[in-house]
Amino acid sequence: MMFPLVGVDRIKTAAEGMIAANKIPHAILIEGDSGMGKSTLARFICNAAVCSGMPAPCGTCDDCRLTASENHPDIVFVTPEKDRKTISVNSIRQIVDEAYVLPQKSNKKVFIIDPADIMTVSAQNALLKILEEPPASVVFILTAFSKNDLLNTIVSRCTVFTLTPPEEYAAREYVLSETKRGEEEVSEALKKAHGSIGTALNILRKKSASKAGDLANTFFDTLKKGNSYELLKLLFALEKDRANALEFYNELEVIVASNMRSCSSATLVRRYEKIRSVIAEHKNLIKQNTNLSLLLSSLVMEITER
Ligand SMILES: [Zn+2]
Repeated sequence: MMFPLVGVDRIKTAAEGMIAANKIPHAILIEGDSGMGKSTLARFICNAAVCSGMPAPCGTCDDCRLTASENHPDIVFVTPEKDRKTISVNSIRQIVDEAYVLPQKSNKKVFIIDPADIMTVSAQNALLKILEEPPASVVFILTAFSKNDLLNTIVSRCTVFTLTPPEEYAAREYVLSETKRGEEEVSEALKKAHGSIGTALNILRKKSASKAGDLANTFFDTLKKGNSYELLKLLFALEKDRANALEFYNELEVIVASNMRSCSSATLVRRYEKIRSVIAEHKNLIKQNTNLSLLLSSLVMEITER
């Protein structure tokens, strides 16, 4: 599998080197701001640790498949107990007990604490005990905004990866290819996100979702007036953008459903039901790469015919 982050060559070399040499340390701490790819890197290293293929993570072995579906028996995600915001000493004690049990399937057992800076101090002290003398098969992967948010004693036991904003050029190329947006829009989003790819992608996604929402609202209002030509004109903008078209259908589905709930006319309810089934069918077709402009014009025909 390809290294999942772009524009961070030093981290890539270090991580790939340690994986190739089969020298994944017992404790890894990944620090960095949000959107820098901490969870992505944590999952990549975890996957490599349990993979039984070559080069790890191979993406095709049983272990990789189980990892992808989040069903691998030797990967444990450490999260707060229900209704809590911190990871308590009790949770960590359970983990410690579990760490002494041999892995079931793979050579390694991986505990991911993402984020780790929500561990209470007593939880960190409990974890420290096992980090001092870890069982041979165990890997702990921790993430935090900053290593300063964890006890020094924990940090000193960890191999630390510090994620910084990726090189500007690589980040721009990546976001451009992921979103198919214009260069100017992408540069602006990256600037707002202080260079973070994840945050920039979120900004662009939210922006297009709200655009799709506006379009769906206008479309629905126009539909009530029954003007097919106006409806077709509204959909022109979507013809070149499959992701946007899908967002439009999602938004329209919500609008139709909410109008249906507040509607007392049986005839109208039947009509809305029909529109919903057309939307559901079209959403499937979009995912199957159907010709988009044909699909959009047939939407207008199918939902305006009486
Ligand atoms: Zn594999």
